[in-house]
Amino acid sequence: MALEIVQVPVLADNYVYLVHDSLSGLTAVVDPAVAKAPLEAAGMRGWAITHILNTHHHPDHTGGNLEIKRETGCTIVGPTYDKDRIPGIEVEVSEEEPYRFGETEAEIFFIPGHTRGHIAYWFKDDNALFVGDTLFALGCGRLFEGTPEQMFDSLQKLKRLPGQTRIYCAHEYTEDNGKFALTVDPDNQALKKRMEDVCKRRAEGLPTVPSFLSEEKKTNPFLLAEDVITFAEVRARKDAF
Ligand code: ZN
Ligand code: FE
Repeated sequence: MALEIVQVPVLADNYVYLVHDSLSGLTAVVDPAVAKAPLEAAGMRGWAITHILNTHHHPDHTGGNLEIKRETGCTIVGPTYDKDRIPGIEVEVSEEEPYRFGETEAEIFFIPGHTRGHIAYWFKDDNALFVGDTLFALGCGRLFEGTPEQMFDSLQKLKRLPGQTRIYCAHEYTEDNGKFALTVDPDNQALKKRMEDVCKRRAEGLPTVPSFLSEEKKTNPFLLAEDVITFAEVRARKDAF
């Protein structure tokens, strides 16, 4: 447990994360939608940003890449599966090999569905999973470039991780996701209870992210879908919700 993780809310509902390894002094910024806020959040703590870790190419995840690179000279890391669409990518990562970060490492999962090149970073020793827009608290990403089969398989991959894994997703969508989830699963007591807490936290302006994978397994309709047909049906209903 060597990593310090800082959540930086930006734009309407994005979360950018700083990941600081105190042993090596390295600091990564995960999915910088913008440059200024994460640069300031790092500066306040006396950290210099040394790396950018991108999960996928969307502008609300890479918009700050080039400016942060210009300011800090950091290294930009992203999915080899999407190397042509990640601004400034220098280090390509894939499922073949864990990514070494200072004194720790992240396993890489290839999780297409939201986009065709999407990955997640799993810092196993710290139980931290950076999932971008694939798995959300009580939801999952829209299928912009992938099929229901791909997204279902991607979520199954993540579902196998330990329950104590913290899900660091890139958007605060939980309350809306939960309203939809209640229409799918109105008798799910764990979901009802969780939604009470989510609504309370949001009313107080508090984040509902990260969540634990164990909670998602019990309450997230997209992880509860047992087969791809059910998953596709629930996803289509959510798109129209
Ligand atoms: Zn996205
Ligand atoms: Fe996004």
